[in-house]
Amino acid sequence: MGYIEPAPIKDKENPLESMMQRFDKAVELLGITEEMYNILKVPRKQVIVGLPVTLDNGRIHTFEGYRVIHSTILGPGKGGIRFDPDVNLDEVRALAAWMTWKCAVVDIPYGGAKGGVACDPRSMSAGEIERLMRAYTTAMLDVFGPDQDIPAPDMGTGSREMAWLMDEYSKAKGMTIQGVVTGKPLVLGGSLGRTEATGRGVMVSALAAMEKLRLNPYKATAAVQGFGNVGSYAAALLRERGVKVLAVSDITGVYYNENGLDIEDALAYRTRNNGILEGYKEAEVLPAEELFRLPVDVLVPAAKEDVITRKNAADIQARLIVEGANGPTSALADDIINDKGIMVVPDILANAGGVTVSYFEWVQNRIGYKWTLERINRRTDRIMKDAFNHVYETSQKYNVSLRIAAYVVAIDKVASTYKYRGGY
Ligand code: GLU
Repeated sequence: MGYIEPAPIKDKENPLESMMQRFDKAVELLGITEEMYNILKVPRKQVIVGLPVTLDNGRIHTFEGYRVIHSTILGPGKGGIRFDPDVNLDEVRALAAWMTWKCAVVDIPYGGAKGGVACDPRSMSAGEIERLMRAYTTAMLDVFGPDQDIPAPDMGTGSREMAWLMDEYSKAKGMTIQGVVTGKPLVLGGSLGRTEATGRGVMVSALAAMEKLRLNPYKATAAVQGFGNVGSYAAALLRERGVKVLAVSDITGVYYNENGLDIEDALAYRTRNNGILEGYKEAEVLPAEELFRLPVDVLVPAAKEDVITRKNAADIQARLIVEGANGPTSALADDIINDKGIMVVPDILANAGGVTVSYFEWVQNRIGYKWTLERINRRTDRIMKDAFNHVYETSQKYNVSLRIAAYVVAIDKVASTYKYRGGY
């Protein structure tokens, strides 16, 4: 189609380009009009703010913060807030669009949004982070709202930051408004199961994919990149279902044990050791680039975007990749991976467990009632399984990868909703 310009082939891609290349492929399959293409492509709102914050040394540093609402066609904007030195507008735009597709794939009534601040939370005190979070919230008072745009944690933020956000927003509005943010601490209206939800969704979709590949979990091995909120729970839950996790990695290295790691033990060590695995004795330490070459059945990238690239994709030995992170595979690596016959459960499906339980949290806040963990897990598992099956069937129907099929499912849903609603 003429309005889709061929994507430039570069060595280094950015996540926005990677997202657009998959989007373009799915749009072509669906035969979407140029008008609809632009409706779905262009973000509804992009906000950039300067945030002067007093640091502990008395100096004022002005941070740059972003919030992009990509779509509100299916419901209010929804998506996390990232605190990371690499945050930039392009990344936030890609992440916001991914949220639109993710919510549509799992069929929850949200649009897509994402926020971020370029900062290094690891080198900031709790007080500095609190002041930054409160400043960011104040700057976004007109953007956020339980029916407008609902933030949540992402890399570098967690329940503590969401508590500050809820407090600052509620103070400004003169009443407690729990439903403005998800991923809150339990006592502030957070949901049971939210912390482990993304990792749980990764496990559920990994098992669903293993069934298709006839891979017995009790005979399978895995390697997990990232030992944060997503990777650690994914590793622990996969282990619980019989999968032997041979390696996990964090910013300090790859920790490998050919007989399988004791994930509970590694988690306990990490907790005692300032949140990092450095010095963990029950494993051999390998260089970072070894992780993707390991002879395992399942690979779970659960750290950052663009880690599987054209440069390392050919070395992958796994039969299955389950994307716990957002955008871990660059678009240029897709063909190499597909040619090798590796099945990929794409990010917008595999890591949707987090936003699914965010949705349950928001529902509970609105009805003023608390669900049991059992109910939350049961409903999350069902949503994830249904979404997997829907995407799998779509991939068979169009003879495309699960990734393109997930985009087809999502784009079709958003586009047909738009047709009914008209110009929203
Ligand atoms: N940041 C998470 C994600 O990328 C969760 C978003 C949410 O719960 O709204 O899916």
